Amino acid sequence: MAEARPDAVVLAAAKVGGILANDRYPADFLQDNLQMETNVIAAAQRLGVEKLVFLGSSCIYPKHAEQPLTEDALLTGPLEPTNQWYAVAKIAGIKLCQAHRRQHGADFVSAMPTNLYGPGDTFHPEHSHVIPALIRRFHEAKVNGDREVTVWGSGTPMREFLYVDDCADAVVHILKHYSGERHLNVGTGADVTIRQLAETIKQVVGFEGELVWDTTKPDGTPRKVLDVARINALGWRAQVDLETGLARTYDWYLRHIDEARTV
Ligand code: GDP
Repeated sequence: MAEARPDAVVLAAAKVGGILANDRYPADFLQDNLQMETNVIAAAQRLGVEKLVFLGSSCIYPKHAEQPLTEDALLTGPLEPTNQWYAVAKIAGIKLCQAHRRQHGADFVSAMPTNLYGPGDTFHPEHSHVIPALIRRFHEAKVNGDREVTVWGSGTPMREFLYVDDCADAVVHILKHYSGERHLNVGTGADVTIRQLAETIKQVVGFEGELVWDTTKPDGTPRKVLDVARINALGWRAQVDLETGLARTYDWYLRHIDEARTV
């Protein structure tokens, strides 16, 4: 950072993963994320970076917080146990930005995107998030001519998904138009059940068999849809609907199937 002397820093680096990876590697999820945040935020402050946007996640909110989740729900109740390690690290990042604002007058802000997906994602069968995991599983089942695809959990949890280009666009908007201590939610404000999502991915991929639900796998939090009124009021809105985003992601996956990262 001392060599590059950036005007602005977007802290998007993180150790991320799906529900099972969080459960298997709690120390990595807590420790690696805390280290990345403290290293980058401290360096930005020391070198006088004018603006920093720290990216968190919607899992910072309490498991049973009222839906849609407003920014004010932060720290009002216990976290979802499956991703608490990651959530605590991200909450620490928000607080670190706020602390630097108060102590050093640094213009460091935080944005909390909902579940992201799109080109460049990690398509690992077990450790990735639900969208890349299912794109890969449905694709491989189609190619192999399988009759069934297994999907985790009960299918009833609800999730909101944001296409990665929309998130990038929101970050640029925040860089230009937002300065404040409170973090900002970034999402579409609309969610779907995992069953609806699985049916949509099945269609996009063109798999014709059946879905089988593996209820030995965790559902995670029942719902986490964001209230996006504050970022909408700043003049930003998501543009890419779920079907379009899934079709673009599958297209990318097909073109990068050999190199699509699997770890
Ligand atoms: P979460 O939003 O932190 O719970 O993260 P995930 O993206 O890993 O999981 C979202 C939901 O999708 C959970 O209810 C999972 O049980 C469900 N799900 C269904 N099939 C899969 C799968 O193959 N991989 C993952 N990661 N989740 C799945």
